[in-house]
Amino acid sequence: MNRTTTRRQFLHQSTGAAAIASAAAALGRVPVFAGGQQPESARGGPANWKAGVAKAILTPEKGVWLAGYGSKRPPEGKLHELWMKALALEDARGRRAVLITSDFQGVPKDVSDRVFEQVRRKFGLERRQIMLTFSHNHCGPRLGDDLVDYYPVEPGQVELVNEYTALMEARLAAMVGEALAHLAPASLRLGEGRATFAVNRRNNREAEVPALLAQGTPLKGPVDHAVPVLTVARPDGSLAAILFGYACHPTTLSFTTWCGDYPGFAQLELEEKHPGAMAMFVNTCGGDQNPLPRRNVELCKRYGHMLAVGVAEAMQQPMPPVSSGLQMAFEHADLPYLQVVTREELLVFRQDKNAIRARWAARMLGKLDAGEKFAPSYPYPVHAWQLGREMLVIGTGAETVVDYALRFKKEFGRGTWVCGYTDDMIAYIPSRRVWEEGGYEGGSNLYEYGRPALRWSGEVEDRIAASVRRLVAEVRG
Ligand SMILES: [Zn+2]
Repeated sequence: MNRTTTRRQFLHQSTGAAAIASAAAALGRVPVFAGGQQPESARGGPANWKAGVAKAILTPEKGVWLAGYGSKRPPEGKLHELWMKALALEDARGRRAVLITSDFQGVPKDVSDRVFEQVRRKFGLERRQIMLTFSHNHCGPRLGDDLVDYYPVEPGQVELVNEYTALMEARLAAMVGEALAHLAPASLRLGEGRATFAVNRRNNREAEVPALLAQGTPLKGPVDHAVPVLTVARPDGSLAAILFGYACHPTTLSFTTWCGDYPGFAQLELEEKHPGAMAMFVNTCGGDQNPLPRRNVELCKRYGHMLAVGVAEAMQQPMPPVSSGLQMAFEHADLPYLQVVTREELLVFRQDKNAIRARWAARMLGKLDAGEKFAPSYPYPVHAWQLGREMLVIGTGAETVVDYALRFKKEFGRGTWVCGYTDDMIAYIPSRRVWEEGGYEGGSNLYEYGRPALRWSGEVEDRIAASVRRLVAEVRG
């Protein structure tokens, strides 16, 4: 398959059923999907699980700024609603897990910790039983103290973000309760499609990408174009949920209108195509991947459509059922910083021309003045869920680069999902390769995320891999 050609063809396609068929053909597989018709392979089979779904709107009603780019971005209307969604699963022995997906740009540790505490008290769910993922949507709202030094300080905005954050925490916990209350017999099936719009942004200059694509010149650098798909069907064959993933930043758009970027459009298209089903998106390891070219709504819709086509493609193939059985493990891996920042360095940075670094330095000095001591490492969340014999979900915090997904999928085999952006926004998480190369995702940029250091130690990949291996051994034991 010529991926470059495929991608170019996609960029010039119109939407609709005919386009889905031709897109699937362009991907090198036989299209058997006719518009409006639900694929048989995604339904039926033994209902050896229980599943419950729930969703809630997260679009702010007041003037919370949009998140993710380093500037003041007051909202101007919306293209569509933003959502948080929950899938509760229970195996034949009554063991439960809840996966949350959401259109948040970033969920910081304080916020997810409070949500985990609420669901523990209200529903008895331990930390290993719940993952709180976010798509990293840059047309989503600020939340908690995520990227707090990114934005110019305005007291009114601080109040709005605090008020909105408290509302979202309560809504997240209530949604988990609703998903658990809706647990009912279901069967799970696994598949995989492809979508080719993610570009390794470290290895290709954004301005050159359109010309390279037009020439058919292959783009450089590792990518993960897989679209893993899990369907949840009721005994009557109706679909309750379609969970799918992709490794790419939702940064097609940088305007100030609420929308879910390409994952938002993909979910809307799938829900329209499968009435009654809830579509859920997880960003797999897209820390160094961008949707290119970008910056207009037409392209954003097109990428959403390409992703929906990838899901449709997976659902046209035979989808093996997931046998009942749920094993879950969780731990914090200790990720060391290269060097914790000193008071002397902060005093210099406070005068920095870079406004983000200056705000960060002033805030860090305030912490030191208040008697706080900076820890030399960060507690990094790592999950492993084994579903039956067929599916392994590895959940990793923050902006893991694509190397993590490629590595763990190779290491643990078919049916492995590697989700980034789980539980905590933290920072970029470079692999050893990216750390050695340096640059934006691997270099001295931890100040942007409010960490008390400039750079990770080169060991972070080894620490995460050791943790993942330990947890996978536990859930497969
Ligand atoms: Zn990012």
